[in-house]
Amino acid sequence: MRTCLLPQSGGENLTDIVPAYVTDPTKAPARDLWFAEPAKVFDNLYFVGGKLHSAWALTTKEGIIVIDTIYPYNSEELIIGGMQKLGLDPKAIKYVLISHAHGDHIGGAEMLQTRYGARVVMGGPDWEWVEKYPNRYKTMAPKRDIVATDGMKIALGEITVTIWLTPGHTPGTMSYTFTVLDRGKPVNLAYSGGTAFNFVNNIPDPGIKNFQNYIDSQKHMAAKAAETKATVLLSNHSEFDNAVNKNRMLAGRGNGPHPYEIGTEWVQRYFQVMQGCARAAQLKLEQKAAGMGMP
Ligand SMILES: [Zn+2]
Repeated sequence: MRTCLLPQSGGENLTDIVPAYVTDPTKAPARDLWFAEPAKVFDNLYFVGGKLHSAWALTTKEGIIVIDTIYPYNSEELIIGGMQKLGLDPKAIKYVLISHAHGDHIGGAEMLQTRYGARVVMGGPDWEWVEKYPNRYKTMAPKRDIVATDGMKIALGEITVTIWLTPGHTPGTMSYTFTVLDRGKPVNLAYSGGTAFNFVNNIPDPGIKNFQNYIDSQKHMAAKAAETKATVLLSNHSEFDNAVNKNRMLAGRGNGPHPYEIGTEWVQRYFQVMQGCARAAQLKLEQKAAGMGMP
């Protein structure tokens, strides 16, 4: 729905303005709109996100890896509060992976780095945005730390998260593959780090090229999901992977299948839909370019 049907914006707004919810916290959306209960989802993976945006705590013998940090106004309650509710110690956070530098994912990164000394990992071009736009990232600007490269492994204790660069949604967007345990059984996950077409997408140049970049990234991540036999698709938006409803389904699971485990074929279909939506939008631009007599 969001990617294929709703009208797209014409591109990223990179003005250096402090977001309203930072200037005046009373302008942040009402708690009802974002609050979700935290949940233990796998033996070593805990959901600490909200109704629309994901944050996860991946536990290891040597500490915790946090994946995405939602907004400045709800990261304290959802991530720190959620971990405490689930019996996890936020002081054990060693790494924070930021799928991309938008306020709904980087919001708690500065806080986690300052308070717990966590190492922050992000794509190079997105680190550049954080440094270039101090107002836009006010209260959410971790100091430059680890610059992700394609295939980089973040290893902690017995767990390794592999980072895949998937530029498109932002120039530095990153996605991951890793393995968790479900009642002791290994389960392979693919985590998609960016979805919407919020690059310049309404004019042939550079829209056609931007869509190609996005399509290439979807193919890249689909290949990695296939290679690692991923049977779970996670998104950095809980509204896209249906995390909050699936968390509720866990309570009634009994001896049935894990609600997140959809199988390798359905994980591939996710990436096919993303590619198809992008290609359809790209075709419109190609037609527009042809109509204008461009090569
Ligand atoms: Zn985004």
